[in-house]
Amino acid sequence: MDKIFEYSCPENLSAGTRVKVPFGGRVIDGFVIGVSRTSVYPAEKLKPVFSVFDEDTALVPECLTLMHEISSRYRVPKAAALRLFLPSEMRLGKVREAYKNFAVFKTADVKLSASAKKQAQALEYIAAEKEKEFPVLCDMFGRGAINALVEKGAIEIDKRKISRSPFEGLQTKTEQRTLTPAQRAALDNIENSDKRVHLIHGVTGSGKTEIYLNVIDREIKRGRTAIFLVPEISLTPQMLSQLRSRFGGAAAILHSGLSAGEKFDEWWRLRSGEAKIAIGARSAVFAPLENIGAVIIDEEHDSSYLSETAPRYSTCDVALMRAKYNGAKLVLGSATPSVETYVKAVKGEYNLITLTERINKKPLPEIIIADMRKEVRRGNNSAFSQALRDELDATLNSGNQAIIFLNRRGYSRTVMCRDCGYVAKCENCDVTLTYHSEDNCLKCHYCGAKYRMLSACPECGGLHVLYSGTGTQRVVADLKELFPAARILRMDNDTVTGKDGHYKILQKFAKKEADILVGTQMIAKGHDFPSVTLVGILDADMSLNFSDYRSGERTFQLITQVSGRSGRADDKGKVVLQTCAPENYILRYATAYDYKGFFENEISIREATNFPPYSLICRVMVTSDDKENALEVLKNVYFAIEELRAQNPDEFYFLNKMHSPIKKIQGKMRYQVLMRLKGKSLLEKIYDIAVKNSNNSVFVYVEENPVNLS
Ligand code: ADP
Ligand code: ZN
Repeated sequence: MDKIFEYSCPENLSAGTRVKVPFGGRVIDGFVIGVSRTSVYPAEKLKPVFSVFDEDTALVPECLTLMHEISSRYRVPKAAALRLFLPSEMRLGKVREAYKNFAVFKTADVKLSASAKKQAQALEYIAAEKEKEFPVLCDMFGRGAINALVEKGAIEIDKRKISRSPFEGLQTKTEQRTLTPAQRAALDNIENSDKRVHLIHGVTGSGKTEIYLNVIDREIKRGRTAIFLVPEISLTPQMLSQLRSRFGGAAAILHSGLSAGEKFDEWWRLRSGEAKIAIGARSAVFAPLENIGAVIIDEEHDSSYLSETAPRYSTCDVALMRAKYNGAKLVLGSATPSVETYVKAVKGEYNLITLTERINKKPLPEIIIADMRKEVRRGNNSAFSQALRDELDATLNSGNQAIIFLNRRGYSRTVMCRDCGYVAKCENCDVTLTYHSEDNCLKCHYCGAKYRMLSACPECGGLHVLYSGTGTQRVVADLKELFPAARILRMDNDTVTGKDGHYKILQKFAKKEADILVGTQMIAKGHDFPSVTLVGILDADMSLNFSDYRSGERTFQLITQVSGRSGRADDKGKVVLQTCAPENYILRYATAYDYKGFFENEISIREATNFPPYSLICRVMVTSDDKENALEVLKNVYFAIEELRAQNPDEFYFLNKMHSPIKKIQGKMRYQVLMRLKGKSLLEKIYDIAVKNSNNSVFVYVEENPVNLS
């Protein structure tokens, strides 16, 4: 149900307040989204609200405006849009403020019996300390003694609200930095440009963070607030420590890994105005701040900024809505901007700022290519090329650290010949095919075409054609054999547990308690480990051959990001990149750090093949645990869209209905209508069709340019 209901209410109620209201014989929670003196209903028909939550207005006024905008943009109920602004911890009302009792010294002028030694000691102690946490004092001198002192009036108990602060004990260093001329120019540029959106395209280590911090600092000094978004906050302890040391309690962290209590406190610190900077992953774009001066999206190309669950919003879109509402600047930053973003910058829609050099003109690490086809021919079937072994040896001997990166994304497997590098692609779409073991065939995720599984390589006749790469465990085992003395840390989804899991592993590595860090995508992101001078990329081809039109872009981004971890301090860095396709143009541009070359090539391919940004990939998902119902709805959705196509033939490059590549998830059958559209003009109608065809048994939803088509 997506409707607004009217109730009568007390005079002083304001929009944004939470209330309990009678609703169809039950009592439910609701939000006041507006107050008016009149109603279309006669007064006696209006039911009164039952009660008002005893808290300040939960929602900032902006939420009520954005609620309409988000609900119409992504076709979600208004209540679902509002929920984005209020984490579940706040809504359920289970978490409350935390309190701690303190014992506070009042007077030593009390009568103690001569035998009450403990009381005398405690009194002497607290008189000197003035105050102490009550339970601690009880532990020291015994609860009886302390209670006696409280009764005599020597000590008073003070119940105080405390803040549960995440990542306590974070190391903070407070160096004051002078901006480099390039950083200063970037900052002035952002200040003086009249464009809303700014893109900082700066090579890894060019000091983008320092620019963000200065943008934030400037807005705070103007009495405004800021939102700072990073892809995955627990992966960036250095970033947190910089923010803490710079802004102290003015910065609050919003992050799914926090305990409910921590979330509650951080959220209220922002809502109450005590904290002025919200830092966090995607969902922090909904931070309860008013008067925002800047929204910053670091590593803007990262796919985590697209929500994969309803509402399927794009963080950048929402950030832009908030920036417009507040008259704020939106600053995007990346060493490898997404093609879609960069195109806008080139066309002048965004203000483009380019930083071409690392801080102190440090060179970017040299990238050595190891051709794994040659290694196989030489009889080396291990995961490590000779070049990588030699470089590891040298790095360990010099007392520096190394990162070994495994390129793993999802569990999809592709057909790639290990002897010659041949890759199986779709004849219609020019994207890599994915192997599906359940029916032993190859499928194209963009048009649904099916191909027979190959038994041998059609190019060279080789028999090693199914490629799935090596796991982290195996890599660690091999490393231990090759370098028995090395201390190795492993970081992947299996080893990371608990809310601080990533953080703890990274801290260990930062403290040099290990020599080699082995991990997947999660170690690629913005870390700054000064002692890392070698990065090994084990299978650069894995993402190159991912069945996605963006696989080239993703590979370029990954190689650039991972390489960027090497040689950030005094010693020169190196990268060994292992591949079966050294001649691939993506790898050529990546090893030369040639983003522009990559971009121009990529954008012309996208234009020629009608892929985004020259089209919009749109998928309408139909899911249900009832196959018959699902097929019925699928048919109706497809007919409705076919009708749209009949009226607008030029708007469609492709349209078909099919099983989703993964046919069933959690007992739900998955079908899809897949289309490639010229632009956004029919999107609203397609959302309409999805909403109309959803029912109690079948769920229909729309995805725009989905990150994942499985
Ligand atoms: P990026 O985000 O562009 O990859 P960082 O912001 O991490 O780069 O900066 C790279 C390194 O340079 C960091 O170690 C940072 O501490 C250092 N740095 C940044 N700005 C300055 C400056 N103005 N003076 C000295 N060192 C700086
Ligand atoms: Zn295809």
